[in-house]
Amino acid sequence: MVTVEEQVRALIERLSPESICDDCIAVRLGLLMREHANRQTRELAGLDGFERRIDACAICGTTKKVIRHKPR
Ligand SMILES: [Zn+2]
Repeated sequence: MVTVEEQVRALIERLSPESICDDCIAVRLGLLMREHANRQTRELAGLDGFERRIDACAICGTTKKVIRHKPR
């Protein structure tokens, strides 16, 4: 069983070095609540290799709070 956190993480890593916003993560993974995606990205942002910042989302093009996996 794949957890939501693993799905969010895999999605962000797949998009690297592009950034993605919480809304697009929620839509892509079919999460019912945007808050759920928001919580996951905040947890991931505290981990090494991920960064959360204001930038253009690669999916919807809106400049807002996004997360990305830093390229090595
Ligand atoms: Zn977006």
